[in-house]
Amino acid sequence: MKVVENTCPSCGAQLKMDRLNRKAHCDYCGGDFTLEEVMNESEIRHEETQKRQEIVRERQAASNDDTNYGIAAIMMVLDSILGAAKRIVFTAFVLVLLIIIAVLLVRFM
Ligand SMILES: [Zn+2]
Repeated sequence: MKVVENTCPSCGAQLKMDRLNRKAHCDYCGGDFTLEEVMNESEIRHEETQKRQEIVRERQAASNDDTNYGIAAIMMVLDSILGAAKRIVFTAFVLVLLIIIAVLLVRFM
């Protein structure tokens, strides 16, 4: 048999189900409901929970995107630093070569 958790539509407490008469009674607030009212209410609640979970998932996905953009920005900065470092090393290499050539020229002249 399918077990369905039924809560009171007006107060949310656990309901006493009278399946024979298709009725439900709430001991907490004293409300009487038909089975259809209770089922509709629990279905609406289920949909609301799903919608809320969807929103949470979307927000998590959005925050993951933010993290990715942050990493991409850091990578771009690192790339530009590395590019600058490479340029400095290349310039220093060329300068050293020119100095060596100049020293050799002076010695043999
Ligand atoms: Zn109730």
